[in-house]
Amino acid sequence: MDEAGVTPDDIQSIDDIRKLPFMQKKDLREYYPTDTFAAPIKDIARFHASSGTTGKPIVAGYTVHDLECWAEGVARCLTAYGVTREDIVQVSYGYGLFTGGLGAHDGAGKIGCAVLPTSSGNTAKQIMLMKDLGTTCLCCTPSYALFLAETIENEPDVRPEDLKLRVGVFGAEPWTEGMRHALEQKLHIRAYDIYGLTEVSGPGVGGECEFQNGTHLWEDMFYPEIIDPVTLQPVEDGKEGELVFTTLTKEGMPVIRYRTRDLTRLIRERCECGRTAVRMDKILGRSDDMLIIRGVNVFPSQVEAVIMEMPEVTGQYFITVDRVNNIDTFDIDIELKPDYYGDNLSTIERTKQQLSERLVSVLGIKPTLHIVEPGSIERSMGKAKHVNDKRKFKN
Ligand SMILES: [Zn+2]
Repeated sequence: MDEAGVTPDDIQSIDDIRKLPFMQKKDLREYYPTDTFAAPIKDIARFHASSGTTGKPIVAGYTVHDLECWAEGVARCLTAYGVTREDIVQVSYGYGLFTGGLGAHDGAGKIGCAVLPTSSGNTAKQIMLMKDLGTTCLCCTPSYALFLAETIENEPDVRPEDLKLRVGVFGAEPWTEGMRHALEQKLHIRAYDIYGLTEVSGPGVGGECEFQNGTHLWEDMFYPEIIDPVTLQPVEDGKEGELVFTTLTKEGMPVIRYRTRDLTRLIRERCECGRTAVRMDKILGRSDDMLIIRGVNVFPSQVEAVIMEMPEVTGQYFITVDRVNNIDTFDIDIELKPDYYGDNLSTIERTKQQLSERLVSVLGIKPTLHIVEPGSIERSMGKAKHVNDKRKFKN
């Protein structure tokens, strides 16, 4: 604040928030583990930590009040999806430092649902319990839901219609409308997006409603802004940019103008559902996830959207980017469903051709496609890894 020349007197209205400097992930890393906490450790009721694969994780601390607000946010999402205390909620997000498992658990508990805390992994047991206990609501990452659906398809004793599933609560990674459609078809559910991030709270910063037309953000707890990620100035309402949050109720680790790196836009028009909370559009991608290949911006979510249009593929894919003789290479492995893979060569070639044409028209750049054996791309139990950018290690 001193560096930015801001004093408390400068803050007279909500618009003055623009005078405040931003917080970023690197700030939270720099003050690892607890120097950004605003409450003494004796008032902290729980810790979580980011999954950060490199360097130190980001540690989040929650007071009792913070945990109550977090559960409230998740409970509002579940209620919007039509979940009530009658439901059996299977939480297949990982339990532990990751906010997914305990976040969904506390939100479902607040409504009074019966919670089945399976955590992630052990897929055969997950499906057995889902069937035998009559799970009605499944919470997990969309990529794990796809893996569960595939496993059910290959399981002769279980058919989707034998299950009582009706609601899917999917988050922790960006996913596409095509993925939604595939999961709804395969699992006989309505699939909803739940949004959140550990630095701000956890899952349940916002969620979709029954109209599935954007994610309502719980503005009474999290004040959202959209900024231009280059100029850092607020963009016009309705324009796309980077999502920024200021927490309004957090005591343990509040954040001010935290840059999420998520690219989206805010929708101010009143939603048909009657909720007045602002909506954000489906996240285009994280600016951190954006690949620049031969000068073209590519989001993995764009690749997924194209792949999900094709009935012949399983929906699993893996992108490899490299630099050979100073030229970027761009390869995508795509799995065909067993029925098509075993088919004649011309089916494989035709599918490859169609995929290639669609990808070029959507991305503006031509990838090299590899049709691979069904089941050969590694399945994820939590957050999926869809990209290997080998250029990162060549600088
Ligand atoms: Zn709505």
